[in-house]
Parts: sequence; C-alpha cells; structure tokens
Amino acid sequence: MALFFQVLASGSKGNATLVCSERTRILVDAGLSARELCARLDRTPVKPNELNGIIISHEHQDHVRGCGTLSRRCGCPVYLSSGTLENLPSQVGTLPHRQVFQSGNGFTIGDLSVHPFAISHDAGEPAGFIIEHDGCRLGVCTDLGIATELVKARLAGCHGLVLEANHDMRLLIDGPYPWQLKQRIRSRHGHLSNEDSFALLEHLHHVHLRAVVLAHLSEVNNNPRLVAQSILDLQASERWCRVSFQIGQQNAVADGIELTG
Ligand SMILES: [Zn+2]
Ligand SMILES: [Zn+2]
Repeated sequence: MALFFQVLASGSKGNATLVCSERTRILVDAGLSARELCARLDRTPVKPNELNGIIISHEHQDHVRGCGTLSRRCGCPVYLSSGTLENLPSQVGTLPHRQVFQSGNGFTIGDLSVHPFAISHDAGEPAGFIIEHDGCRLGVCTDLGIATELVKARLAGCHGLVLEANHDMRLLIDGPYPWQLKQRIRSRHGHLSNEDSFALLEHLHHVHLRAVVLAHLSEVNNNPRLVAQSILDLQASERWCRVSFQIGQQNAVADGIELTG
C-alpha cells in the first residue's frame, strides 16, 4: 500500500478524511464531534489512538468541531495555519499539541509529506493540501470559491483527488437561502459549484489519475443524483472510464481507496 484514503464525512455539517501510509495515519479536518469521529474511525482500519496528526484546512465548525477533544484525548498534534489558529471557535478549547504551518511551506508527518496551499474562502487563512508518499500524490481541496491558477497548479498530477462539488447553480438560485447567503456561496470566497468542479476536473485530467471523490455537497443546494449523472456523462468518454468516482456522504463512511504510484 502506498497511500490509502477514506472520506469519513463530507458536507456542511462536518468533514473528515483519513489518509494513511503503512506507518503514518492522519486526519484532514475533524469537523464532527470527537465521539462521532471515533465511531467513524471504528469502520476503518485505524484506531483513534493510532492517529499521528490532524491537519486543519480552516476554522469553520464543519472542519474543526472535534479536533481539540480528539487531539487532547489521543495526544496527536493539530497542524494549522496561524490565521486558522487565531480564528478558531472557542469550543475547540486549548491545543497543547499544535504545529503552525504556512501555506506554500511543506512539512512532514511521519513518512507523509504535506504541502498546504492557499485557497480562496471566507476564513482566516484557508488551505488545501497535497499529501505525498512513495510517489503517490493525493489532493484534498474543499471550501473554495474559485479554482485559482495556484490551485490548478498544485492539484496537477494527483493520483487521487477529494474535490468540492458544493452546489448546483440552479438549485442554489431557486432555493430557500436568503439572497446574501446565496451571494456569499457564489462569490470568490464561497464554494465551488458542480459546474466549476467538473470544469476543474477536465483541466486536471491526466493518465495517472485513479480516483476522485466529489465532496462537501450541500444538502440544500445540491442533489447527489445530479452529481452522479455528471459522473456518468464524464465516464462516457474514454479518457475518464478508468477513473473511479465516489460521492462523499454526510452520514456514512465511504469506501477506502488505495493509490499506488
Ligand atoms: Zn466546509
Ligand atoms: Zn468553510
């Protein structure tokens, strides 16, 4: 096994993805309660006290809810940017084991290389991540209003991707959210629509791309069936038919995915 990843939860009520090599295990985001995160880890090969770190994309509750409790309980460090640290909700509590990173500067956790990069979102200092091990490259990138040139460059060449497909534009516009919130979601500091996400995927396609998880679907402004249909449309073309796809779920642990270089 070179690099293993498994989406434990995905959506506006909580996000967490397990990423492992044979000897290092980390979470990207910990946006469920610690109790729920432990329950979801029970459905994976990893026990909570085997975690070597939790890396945090930004301070919104759906990404940090359980990180303080889980870190204190398991003694594993939380890796976050200073902008995220300054804006953490008070419920997270103290982080005795914390490591501050800067976007653009890579670091290692065990034998995983982690490369944070800046994304555009309404948070203090939000980041996406490339995680590499043994020639395998995984990109985890949710909560971004726009796929900037930097985002496209960092996500290029990944073997696996966890990529936001937040909303269907029509459902958002016709939906129940107040006008201002609709504007925020659509803005450069909001979230990627299905259309944005699939356009980005077309841009990122390469022959070694193996697996894609469409993530952070809005329960109000999206419908997994729409995303599934877009996946089917994509897979009708020969260059996509060998790429495996999943849709991240809010209430269920997805199947684990193994990447080899
Ligand atoms: Zn989020
Ligand atoms: Zn967010």
